[in-house]
Amino acid sequence: MSAHIIDGKQVAAELRATIASEVSALAETGVQPGLAVVLVGEDPASQVYVRSKAKQTVEVGMASFEHRLAVETSQAQLLDLIATLNADPRVDGILVQLPLPPQIDADHVLRAIDPAKDVDGFHPVNAGMVATATGGIVPCTPLGALLLLKSVRENLSGLHAVVVGRSNIVGKPMAQLLLQQDCTVTIAHSRTRDLPALTRSADILIAAVGRAEMIRGDWIKPGALVIDVGINRLNGETGKSRLVGDVAFEEARVVAGAITPVPGGAGPMTIACLLKNTVETAKARRL
Ligand code: NDP
Repeated sequence: MSAHIIDGKQVAAELRATIASEVSALAETGVQPGLAVVLVGEDPASQVYVRSKAKQTVEVGMASFEHRLAVETSQAQLLDLIATLNADPRVDGILVQLPLPPQIDADHVLRAIDPAKDVDGFHPVNAGMVATATGGIVPCTPLGALLLLKSVRENLSGLHAVVVGRSNIVGKPMAQLLLQQDCTVTIAHSRTRDLPALTRSADILIAAVGRAEMIRGDWIKPGALVIDVGINRLNGETGKSRLVGDVAFEEARVVAGAITPVPGGAGPMTIACLLKNTVETAKARRL
């Protein structure tokens, strides 16, 4: 059997097209959603992410406000900027690019963002609402992973989902979303015993670990839906590096029913979901 390869680029492009038409409908009511992205320092990967977020924001017709601060920026200066953005009526979403330099407490900064503008969904108010299934803004990566699952199977009710990873930004909210879909959810982490036996029982397997190709083909239940959130850089023999996921893709694709590749799977959905969240916060704040 060969798995259906879930094309994250295609699903993300469709989502962006839907967002662009929502944005143009909002324009007719005089509303232009705005996203502010704050980058502190010059981390090369963060610069790439921020550039691509700003570009896609403008492409769907939203306003993009970029704030690039020097690496020596103090926590107080960053908090001042957050307060200004919280008060700015043109700004519907605020994203502070992580990681932050060591003099800044990221948790403190993320909690200073107005929960109504917290398009990353990292504020405890939003995390709590997602956990209690009372609304809230859902973090972009798990939201994207759920949309990818739904692109291949609409009804997930009763399926056993195993989420490998328990971070606040991916694993935990992913598990909450799957619970809301009536899955039976198991969360695995570094202390889980006999992980291969557990993953072999998964109808849905979400890998969010950050360990290159850790999940082997024989850890996967035949026909399972596999979403690989991991992004790992491997140095190849020729000196060129390549990106791989947490799942050994070539082994897994002959066992799984459907699987996301890396790159081109979960990754492209994250920014598309950021734009989606920004449209949602704009509607909630302004209509
Ligand atoms: P974290 O490092 O915060 O969490 C990793 C999780 O994996 C932890 O819960 C850890 O367990 C668990 N883990 C580590 N080793 C093992 C192991 N051997 N067996 C089982 N579980 C293990 O990472 P993130 O959640 O932030 O990210 C996970 C991956 O997703 C990374 O590759 C990251 O690059 C990628 N990512 C991709 C995004 C995208 O597509 N846009 C966005 C965000 C992340 P414990 O808690 O016990 O330490």
